[in-house]
Amino acid sequence: MSNPTSTLAPQPPYTSTADIVNYINGQEVAGSSGKKQGVYNPSTGQVTRHVVLSTPDDVQNAVVAARAASVAWGETPPIRRARIMNRFLQLMNEHTDELAALITAEHGKVFTDAQGEVQRGIDIIEFACGIPQLLKGDYTDQVSTGIDNWTMRQPLGVVAGITPFNFPCMVPCWMFPMAIAAGNAFILKPSERDPGASLFMARLLKQAGLPDGVFNVIQGDKVVVDALIEHPEVAALSFVGSTPIAHYIYERGAHFGKRVQALGGAKNHMVIMPDADIARTVDALVGAAYGSAGERCMAISVAVMVGDIGARIMPALIERTRTLKVKDGMYLDAEMGPVITPEARERIAAYIQSGVEQGAELLVDGRNFTVEGFEQGFYLGGTLFDKVTPDMRIYQEEIFGPVLVCVHVNSLDEAIDLVNRHEYGNGVSCFTSDGHTAREFTRRIQVGMVGVNVPIPVPMSWHGFGGWKRSLFGDMHAYGEEGVRFYTKQKSIMQRWPENITKGNDFIMPTA
Ligand code: NAD
Repeated sequence: MSNPTSTLAPQPPYTSTADIVNYINGQEVAGSSGKKQGVYNPSTGQVTRHVVLSTPDDVQNAVVAARAASVAWGETPPIRRARIMNRFLQLMNEHTDELAALITAEHGKVFTDAQGEVQRGIDIIEFACGIPQLLKGDYTDQVSTGIDNWTMRQPLGVVAGITPFNFPCMVPCWMFPMAIAAGNAFILKPSERDPGASLFMARLLKQAGLPDGVFNVIQGDKVVVDALIEHPEVAALSFVGSTPIAHYIYERGAHFGKRVQALGGAKNHMVIMPDADIARTVDALVGAAYGSAGERCMAISVAVMVGDIGARIMPALIERTRTLKVKDGMYLDAEMGPVITPEARERIAAYIQSGVEQGAELLVDGRNFTVEGFEQGFYLGGTLFDKVTPDMRIYQEEIFGPVLVCVHVNSLDEAIDLVNRHEYGNGVSCFTSDGHTAREFTRRIQVGMVGVNVPIPVPMSWHGFGGWKRSLFGDMHAYGEEGVRFYTKQKSIMQRWPENITKGNDFIMPTA
């Protein structure tokens, strides 16, 4: 039980109760299904707004608008597209706190964390402002006598993004700023659980001067996702969400001949070596495991204790987990808020029960946790398990909640082997004070994003984000230069301007 007595964030809580609708061709229009779904404030447990669900007809309207807009937008010089992105960047900076408060109201993550999320989205917009430089092609003079060869990258046309609930601003920003700056029109299908940020950003894009139809939002569920996958005019799909859906989107998208990048779930390990700095490691581990109530694809959910470090680290870890400041996210000293829905809380509690039944040692139990004044909120306390083994469900499966499991091994080799055998390969980190250990770890680990003494190694906007194994289906990572490549296709041009010499037909393969 914790007491919400601290200071509130300077930004007042988000209070709009208006329905959340689609944004098509610059207009806010309700989806045509006639169905609405409640959007909770997870901290109070109340439905505060409704999202109006859409149909394949609404998807068709969005694609028609996007298709029409994509022609002129694709012809717009990249520098002018970048100027609009620059204005959008400025507006996002001006409205960060308002957007963060909205995210806290619909997602539940603490306000300061929501501010961080918006900032990481802004980083990508900043990167997308460099699109003229990023679209520069290669040029080879004189590939053969009198012939030059160069490449250019052209937009795909209409592209779509389907995003998860846990980063309602940042993950869409992994996609649409890159796609739009590269000259495409974009259709966003946000999570129906916290869809408010999508409309908020649509309004800012309009204010920034983006032509109508270049950015569109379709609210809804599987019905509209399937319509986007099947639509012949949608050239590429970016997806971020759970692994089963990522795999589904990848397979179905490929079936319809689309380019797909589908980022899935995770089970991120932190390997703690016997020479790790204990105080720093505990701070990093607690923040990475319980920040955003563990609802981060880069959250650390497994601590791998190597050698005798477990016995030395555990007392501080237990203490820190027990004393986590769990409260409404608008309190500035809150470290962790509620989880997204009552169903999520039940699912996480069921995982905790399975851990107990399979013989793990439950050191801190976050079930039956309430916050004074917010008794109906979807709260759980931090949960800590020790003596977890690889055959247990709490080790194998993504829990996506504030549950940290500890596994013990004897050596770095054993730790690397354990991580490499896991089906997920999104993020991993190693805490050590030895350079050779760090080097061995980073070279041998089969994971896409690796941190050394950095618990959550989310790459900066110019590096690109992506896991390995069942954490990503497709060839290219999100954002960075891979993002530019994903949203454009390469064209190679070979050109000769001969003097007036007639040589007749060539029937052999031309060579230099
Ligand atoms: P989710 O897979 O349930 O939903 C993601 C999106 O897919 C939503 O827009 C949803 O409406 C849609 N969707 C859901 N079921 C569908 C279906 N049957 N057919 C078609 N579309 C469907 O994921 P979530 O619960 O919103 O988000 C949490 C998950 O996302 C976790 O697994 C987390 O690890 C993952 N995630 C991964 C990354 C990454 O970069 N790898 C980043 C953030 C979140």
